[in-house]
Amino acid sequence: MDGKTPIAITRIIDDDVGKAVREALDLVDAKRLMREGMLVLLKPNLLSAKPPERAVTTHPEVLRAVIRWAKQFKPRRIVVADSSAGTAMGTTEKVLKASLIEQTCQEEGVECMPLEKTTRTVYKVKDPLVLDEFAASTLLEEADLIVNLPKIKTHDLTRLTCCVKNMFGTLPLGNKTRVHGRFPLINDFCAALADVYSVSRPALAVVDGYLCQEGPGPSAGDVVKLDLILAGFDGVALDAAVCKIIGLETGKVPYLKLGEKKGLGTTDLGAVDFKGEPIESVMRPFKIPPGSPIAGVPMPRFLARYLANVVFKAAITFDPARCKLCATCWKNCPVGAITPPAELKQGNVPSWDKKKCITCYTCAETCPHEAVGFKIEPLKNAARSPLGIAAIAALGAIVLLAIWLAVAWPCA
Ligand code: SF4
Ligand code: SF4
Repeated sequence: MDGKTPIAITRIIDDDVGKAVREALDLVDAKRLMREGMLVLLKPNLLSAKPPERAVTTHPEVLRAVIRWAKQFKPRRIVVADSSAGTAMGTTEKVLKASLIEQTCQEEGVECMPLEKTTRTVYKVKDPLVLDEFAASTLLEEADLIVNLPKIKTHDLTRLTCCVKNMFGTLPLGNKTRVHGRFPLINDFCAALADVYSVSRPALAVVDGYLCQEGPGPSAGDVVKLDLILAGFDGVALDAAVCKIIGLETGKVPYLKLGEKKGLGTTDLGAVDFKGEPIESVMRPFKIPPGSPIAGVPMPRFLARYLANVVFKAAITFDPARCKLCATCWKNCPVGAITPPAELKQGNVPSWDKKKCITCYTCAETCPHEAVGFKIEPLKNAARSPLGIAAIAALGAIVLLAIWLAVAWPCA
């Protein structure tokens, strides 16, 4: 339909991922983007070192199908690259192996590399919402076509990770946590996500809705076999379509409205020309994490800062039954907020320093044993903050005054 952005939705039947990917790409006529001799950059989600069945990383069969589809147009190079959530060098290599992405690239004869191992340049963000520039791989500017290959997962912090959030992975390793640290307020962080997405702005996206995650994603959630592929050119619209499928209001994913405001795409599904399966026929509500209670709520910055950094600050917890003392969390924490226990024996857990923690979620995203959890206790946090203590003291003084008045002037 004229003026509408196309989105294809196809079903994966009997685990034939390749067929569903090819059908989706045909339905949106993705071949019009292709020409001979291109450098095609494929950007999967390589969050952490988990096997494909755990649904943390882009499924290798989705990647394989896109590689085979792209090969028919005789590109000069196909490069598969991403940077994982860890901060230590060598983390992405582990993810490439565990996720079977490296093996798939070898089988298909295409290049595969951690983005942090490539040459970097500084990218200026046009009309930045919050982030004016950042360093990332020169591959982003060298590529003739960037294809985004996100996976559908719920996310503890942003509620959804799919097209827009996946491009945050173009920031190499610890640069991601530095952005978390620089923008502790969820709305600012989501604005930074939109800024990062605007630099590479992939021309095509193939969404992995094969094995997904719901609940406490993006790493420790429950696996959902959704058996869907989505393809399109507008990442914001694709995310909005995914929201509809999983029963999440787009307004609860702040980076979508911010992305729309920045002109990166539309959240209006009325402006989408859906092809393939009707969206109503593939809806499957996901368990959605609560996310930040102040996300998207307009308020003065001092109050937002107080609520985010004090009242709703999440406490990191370690499950002694799951923790294997593997050291991943304390090696990857960008601010040294996690320290190993005095004795490395099963049942002991690392210690967490609330004052140092910038709530970047790296520990939860990279723990190979899903032993890191988050707990938000707003009443407890408020009561222990200086403001809370002052409020309790003031309340106590009022009560004492009232009692004294009642005793001193009983007939008044
Ligand atoms: S919490 Fe996870 S990452 Fe940290 S030491 Fe335990 S198992 Fe390793
Ligand atoms: S302890 Fe805090 S700062 Fe360190 S990795 Fe975990 S969430 Fe990030």
